[in-house]
Amino acid sequence: MTAGERPRSAADVRKEVRNGARDTQATVEQALQRAFDVKAGMDGLNIFVSLDDALLREHARGAATQLADTEPGSLLGVPVAIKDNIASLHHPTTCGSRMLKGYISPYEATVVARLRAAGAVPFGKTNMDEFAMGSSTENSAYGPTLNPHQTDRTPGGSSGGSAAAVAAGIVPIALGSETGGSVRQPAAFCGVVGVKPTYGRVSRFGLVAFASSLDQVGVFGATVDDAARGLRVIAGHDPLDSTSADIPVPDYTLAGTHSVKGMVIGRPKEYFPESLDPRVRARCDAALAHLAALGAIVKDVSLPHTDLAVPVYYIVAPAEASSNLARFDGVRYGRRLPGDGLRGMYEATRTGGFGPEVTRRILLGTYVLSAGYYDAYYRKAQRVRTLIADDFGSVFGSGVDLLFTPTTPTPAFRLGAISDPYEMYMSDIFTVTANLAGVPAMSQPIGRVDGLPVGGQLIAPHFEEDRMFAAAYALERALGDEAHR
Ligand code: GLN
Repeated sequence: MTAGERPRSAADVRKEVRNGARDTQATVEQALQRAFDVKAGMDGLNIFVSLDDALLREHARGAATQLADTEPGSLLGVPVAIKDNIASLHHPTTCGSRMLKGYISPYEATVVARLRAAGAVPFGKTNMDEFAMGSSTENSAYGPTLNPHQTDRTPGGSSGGSAAAVAAGIVPIALGSETGGSVRQPAAFCGVVGVKPTYGRVSRFGLVAFASSLDQVGVFGATVDDAARGLRVIAGHDPLDSTSADIPVPDYTLAGTHSVKGMVIGRPKEYFPESLDPRVRARCDAALAHLAALGAIVKDVSLPHTDLAVPVYYIVAPAEASSNLARFDGVRYGRRLPGDGLRGMYEATRTGGFGPEVTRRILLGTYVLSAGYYDAYYRKAQRVRTLIADDFGSVFGSGVDLLFTPTTPTPAFRLGAISDPYEMYMSDIFTVTANLAGVPAMSQPIGRVDGLPVGGQLIAPHFEEDRMFAAAYALERALGDEAHR
């Protein structure tokens, strides 16, 4: 199997395990073998930061006990890779940081517990930008992950390891996290499906906090159906997270039977600027033409505050991060580095434990929250955030069902190509808006440019993931092989 080839789907794995064609051990062994082959054969893509064979075999045995149930879990025997900032028992949870080297969480994230309850096998921890800050995995203390399609390219970030695990055919489903695009952007760069649910749709319990008002756990799938199956399992109210919403979770896999006929799909002009890579534009227009041919009504719309989203995000996210990351001080959390006295210990720990991007964000966040600058930056950013959310409210309130945009302005860039942090931040321009507004969004492959995948993004109103999946299934079917060509 080469990069980009599809792994066995989650639905097939479950079916085979259920009817006895394979057992859960065999599915895990196959994924381990594939992970090994990828490591040996594809320049060692550096996808996993921890992958304990013995532990996975034990998990596989645990999953197998469900075979005795009348209705075994919906992900029975399916290996699911987990981003390194989501707490799992046994495997370390290090957030791609020296600060948490070797840290084993005493509890498990709700999303991981739900996966296990559904019969899935949590399959190792994947590489990421340190504390989820970045768009290329180059900010990881473990070194960058490489893009399975072209190994001199980034897989995107911050959930680059999870996206690459799916793209390389190791697992059909992986978990990532989203604060500003960290699932959708790597999904686009790696040619897989990536979903950011509505804020509050999925429990954040056990997700290491970056910016709490933006963070959500998200799902990668090799196909729309794989992603729908994964989301269905992890979504829903959790008493352990007071921001999780008590709203029923539909069966997203049924959305595949819904038609897009008569659906109004908005094409926001701010996401198709003059400067957009013409090849990306052409792919998006082709995808929209498919949706129109299926009976959707494509309509030009405007989200006028879009250009303010990156500056707003890079005030709000670092502000929250500076507060959330205060706990990593070598006393409450984090690997303690010795220094002269208490202050010296704090300095040594925080200087030696964090990499340059995390340090920059903490400094930036502390600055915008400090007395005298709070009103000028943080409060103003919060006001503009409301305008951005209102933009979505107005279009969705005017009869538009969904929005369609490119996920990123360009396909995957070369590793090492972007050294200016500001330029890196600008690559989030089409994704941070959904996080600021809290609305669900997803990326799916819509074709290639010079062998590199291009992602198309669907954005829906709050808690309308179902509608988004309906269009995604329809588009995936209409594109067929064109999605990967
Ligand atoms: N690239 C964005 C950042 O660096 C988004 C990260 C994320 O979604 N976790 O903050």
